[in-house]
Amino acid sequence: MTDCLFCKIVSGEVPAKVVRESARTVAFRDINPQAPTHVLVIPREHHSTVAELAAADADVLAEVLREAHQVAVDEGIAESGYRVVFNTGPQAGQTVFHVHAHVLGGRGLNWPPG
Ligand code: IMP
Repeated sequence: MTDCLFCKIVSGEVPAKVVRESARTVAFRDINPQAPTHVLVIPREHHSTVAELAAADADVLAEVLREAHQVAVDEGIAESGYRVVFNTGPQAGQTVFHVHAHVLGGRGLNWPPG
């Protein structure tokens, strides 16, 4: 997708602090972190939402989730606990319509989220 910010991060057109890469995913630090660890994991291929990705390619969705866990391991927060969030749709706060898993941790996280 030519006009998608996260597709441009995948292609290298927009710079990002990449922390992990796999064949089908990229993980990079959120530009506006909401916790000491705040990393986004995305599929390289463009899909708008997690629902769309699940329908199109469940294997890639599983890879996104494995990579999210590996980010937590790499960041040293896998044992203390972390959260994986897919904001889906405008009312849930999704602003970038290239599916992304937020990996958040490194502090106590409130529940329910706002
Ligand atoms: P959403 O609101 O769930 O769609 O999350 C989008 C996330 O992308 C937000 O947490 C933003 O801070 C983050 N973001 C927006 N632009 C960039 C960027 O250029 N690099 C890294 N993160 C970004």
